[in-house]
Amino acid sequence: MSDNFFRLNLIDGEWQASAAGQWFDKAEPATGERLCQVTASTPADVDAAVAAARRQFDGGAWSQLPGAARGRLLNRLADLLEAKAEDFAQLLAREQGRALMEMRMLDVPMAIDTLRYFAGWADKLEGRQIPTAGFMGRPTFNYTVREAVGVAALIVPWNAPLMIGAWKLGPALAAGCTVVVKPSEDAPLALSALAALAAEAGFPPGVINVVQGLGPAVGRALTTHPGVDKISFTGSTVVGRQIAAEAGPLFKRLTLELGGKAPQIILEDAVLEQAIGGCAMGLFVDQGQTCAAGTRILVHRSRYEAVLQALAGAARSLQLGDPFNPATQMGALISERHAQRVRSHIDAARQAGAQMLAGDEAVPERGFFVRPTIFGGVTPDMAIAREEVFGPVGVVIPFDSDDEAVALANDSAYGLSATLWTQNLTKAHSLAARLKVGAVAINGWSPLDARLPWGGGKDSGVGRDLSRAALDGYLEEKVVTVVM
Ligand code: NAD
Repeated sequence: MSDNFFRLNLIDGEWQASAAGQWFDKAEPATGERLCQVTASTPADVDAAVAAARRQFDGGAWSQLPGAARGRLLNRLADLLEAKAEDFAQLLAREQGRALMEMRMLDVPMAIDTLRYFAGWADKLEGRQIPTAGFMGRPTFNYTVREAVGVAALIVPWNAPLMIGAWKLGPALAAGCTVVVKPSEDAPLALSALAALAAEAGFPPGVINVVQGLGPAVGRALTTHPGVDKISFTGSTVVGRQIAAEAGPLFKRLTLELGGKAPQIILEDAVLEQAIGGCAMGLFVDQGQTCAAGTRILVHRSRYEAVLQALAGAARSLQLGDPFNPATQMGALISERHAQRVRSHIDAARQAGAQMLAGDEAVPERGFFVRPTIFGGVTPDMAIAREEVFGPVGVVIPFDSDDEAVALANDSAYGLSATLWTQNLTKAHSLAARLKVGAVAINGWSPLDARLPWGGGKDSGVGRDLSRAALDGYLEEKVVTVVM
């Protein structure tokens, strides 16, 4: 798949470099070498992209399309993506350094499924008829219509650009919004490639615009732009907080999917083999670079030592390396800067007295690799048990009672997701009700699915991606009253 124009902006149907003439380097994580140079946009490019999106929204061809036609376009895009699934998996593996196998099994199929799911909603966005007691003695007829909110800025992180891009594009386009997409500077290509497919699918120029560039310059210009009505952001809590502070007074609609520090609770009666395999997956998929990474493994004291040793063994046995080698189980981290950040969390944990049971084995010579790391001897107040690392680093902490497990799990600034491992389903339901998170998985790691809402509370953000709940973020309900 030619990636030549994916490193450019797509504005009003034209691929173009920023007039400012600046470029930034994108490295290939598994080799450390330069993959390409990407156009570094300025607020002037953001202005042009928002203006194109506005024209389509305010009376352009897109604004005249019925929901069924929008659904057909989304389905066509999903079909084209499916036809090019392997090309996309390879492009993602190259730009992210993740094992090709994960792209084939998770990211690409979920992106296709998400687009199809939201295609199905496009002609089902119905209003309501609401009876009232009337107005000043006269009967009324009241109904609502659900209208697209306007131009949506979709700001996407690097850890799953195609999949999270589809989580946002699907509901935004089904609702009838037009969009300006801001890919991460660390993973700019696959999302651009999806926008190219959308043009091929028949989306009119200006409905989907892409602006490449650095967050503080381009992302901020978008989130504070007067022509943007809605912001859907997935990224760090720090940036999410800044967006909320700046966009809140401008009354922009906000969906913020932010960080996490997910607990995985292994109760006394859990089937250990299942729990350990599931916890390792929840911790190490995407090199731990997921918001839902189950990095706090809370274990009943009677099983603590067994779980600690088994997880350390699983970590030590993972094969790191070239994402394109079928034997590779774990790839590289996204950038050297990020790998250093992860290593500094590991160093700080060791200095604080945590016991490192896996993680100091050798890594491949080239590329941004960090070994999967397991810590025991961790107390809940240590930074490694509280801060989001966003890398393959887990802590194992014992508890003595169900109440203590719940208290430990909820003792976090974050509230995105949790897993519970037990054979006692009655207990599982009652503990799930007490966990202050947006998603609880029982005896498995959070199965992401387009039909299930995804998002959290506390420092994990506001609003939901996926499911019919995501559509609400792109729609306004207008009421019309006829006084008879
Ligand atoms: P990040 O916040 O650094 O960047 C995310 C996006 O925001 C990028 O496109 C970036 O260019 C842009 N950006 C940066 N500064 C900006 C600003 N001032 N204004 C507007 N946009 C700006 O996050 P990241 O490092 O790309 O991603 C990792 C983070 O994302 C982690 O904290 C992770 O937990 C979170 N995440 C959350 C979810 C979820 O669903 N809750 C999913 C994936 C990742």
